[in-house]
Amino acid sequence: MYLDEKIETMSRNELNTLQFDRLKKALNAASQTRYYNKFFSDKKIDVSKIKTLEHIKDLPFTTKHDLRLSYPDGMVAVPASDIVRIHASSGTTGKSTVIYYTQKDIDHWANQIARAMYATGTRKEDVFQNMMGYGLFTGGLGLHYGAEKLGCTVIPSATGNSLRQIQLLQDFNTTVIHITPSYALHLVEVIKENGINPHDLSLKKAYFGAEPYSQATTEKLENLWGIDAYNSYGLSEMNGPGVAMDCIHKKGMHVVEDSYIVEIINPNTGEQLPDGEEGELVITHINREAMPIIRYRTRDLTRIIPEPCECGRTHRRIERIKGRSDDMIIVGGVNVFPSQIESVLMNIPEIGNNYVIIIDRENGLDRMHIQVELYSKLFQGDIKALKRLNKDIVEKLRAIIVINPRVEFMEPGSLPASEGKAKRVIDNRII
Ligand code: AMP
Ligand code: ZN
Repeated sequence: MYLDEKIETMSRNELNTLQFDRLKKALNAASQTRYYNKFFSDKKIDVSKIKTLEHIKDLPFTTKHDLRLSYPDGMVAVPASDIVRIHASSGTTGKSTVIYYTQKDIDHWANQIARAMYATGTRKEDVFQNMMGYGLFTGGLGLHYGAEKLGCTVIPSATGNSLRQIQLLQDFNTTVIHITPSYALHLVEVIKENGINPHDLSLKKAYFGAEPYSQATTEKLENLWGIDAYNSYGLSEMNGPGVAMDCIHKKGMHVVEDSYIVEIINPNTGEQLPDGEEGELVITHINREAMPIIRYRTRDLTRIIPEPCECGRTHRRIERIKGRSDDMIIVGGVNVFPSQIESVLMNIPEIGNNYVIIIDRENGLDRMHIQVELYSKLFQGDIKALKRLNKDIVEKLRAIIVINPRVEFMEPGSLPASEGKAKRVIDNRII
C-alpha cells in the first residue's frame, strides 16, 4: 500500500514538526547564498525570527524574476564540487532558471517520485516507457530516476518518433507511460491508423503532466487508450515532476509535504488564503541542499483539498491546476511569455505596433502563428525583401522562445485595434 509508510502516513503534528525543522535548515542555507543574503538584508528579514511554521507568511516571495537575477549560481548553497547535475526551465534562452542538485537531492527526488508512482499501483514488475523530453527539461530524467528506484524496467524513449514508440510499446509490453496529454491524444490516433487497437496493448496506466489539461481530456484519454490516467504536477524550480501526484483514487494530487511547504495566496494581494480556497500556489522547497527556494510564486492556480484521502496518506492534496495568474503560455511543453515575443517584435523597425499571437493544436502538436502589421511604406516593398525580413524575424524569435513560430505580415491597420487591455494571445486549443 505504501512505499514509505512512516513518512506517508505521519500525523499532521509530526509532519508540521518535520516541516518546521526542515524550513529552518532551508532558511539558514538560503541565507548563506549570495542572492538570498542580500535579498533578506534588503528586506530587513531576520530568519531567526521564524519561530513557527505559521511565521512563513512573514517571509518575502521568490519569483521567476529573482531566479533570473541570481543567474547563474547566486542561489547555490553548496560548494560547486558538490553539484552533480543542473537542469533549466524550458522556454527561455537558458539564461533564466537554472536548478542545481547534489547527489542527495537527486536521491530525494527519485525517492519521492518512486513513492508517488507506487501510490498509483506501479511496481517493480512494470515496464515504464518515458515519453517526456530528456535533457535540460526535467520531465524525462525526473521520472526516469524515480521509476528505476522503484525497480521498474525503464525505456527512455523520449518524445516524438511515434512509430518507434508504438513498436516499443508492443515489443516490450509496456505497462506504464509518462507523456504530455497533447502528445497522448496524437499518439493514440497514430496507433489506430496503424491498425492497432490501443486496448489490445499491455498498457495499464499513464502519468500525464507538464501542461494544463482538463478533466474531460483525462476521461477522453482514458477511454481512447483503455488505461487509468494519473495527474502529475511539478515545475523545474521545485526539482521538476513529482511535486504532487494523484494516488490510486485520482481525487487530487498529494503534495510531497516532507519536501515542500505549500500555501495558497491571493495573487493580487499576496495574502495567505485558508485551505480550500482557490488562489495561487506558493511553494517552499525544504528538502534540497544545493538550492533552497523560499516561497516561490508558481503562478499556478489551484486549491488545497483539506479533507483526508481514502488512501490514508496524510499529505494534503491539491486540485487540478485551473490556469495561471500570469500570462505565461505553454506551447508544446515550452514556457513562453508574450512579453518575450513583444520585446523581439518591437525591436524590429519594419514592424508596426499591432500583433496577435495565435496558438492552435494540429494532430496533437501545438503551433504558434504570429500576425504582425508592417509599417505602411514597407507593405509596398518587394516580395524578396519581405521574405528575407520574415525569415529574419522567425530566427530572432526562435533564439528567444526556442520554438519556431510562423510569422504572417498583415496590412497596416488590418488587425483589430484594442480598446483597453489588448488581447494579444488567441489560444484555440481545447484542453
Ligand atoms: P517547467 O518549469 O518547464 O517545469 O514548467 C512548469 C509548469 O508547467 C508549471 O508551473 C505548470 O504551469 C505547468 N504544469 C506542469 N504540470 C502540470 C499539470 N499536471 N497540470 C497543469 N499544469 C502543469
Ligand atoms: Zn490518496
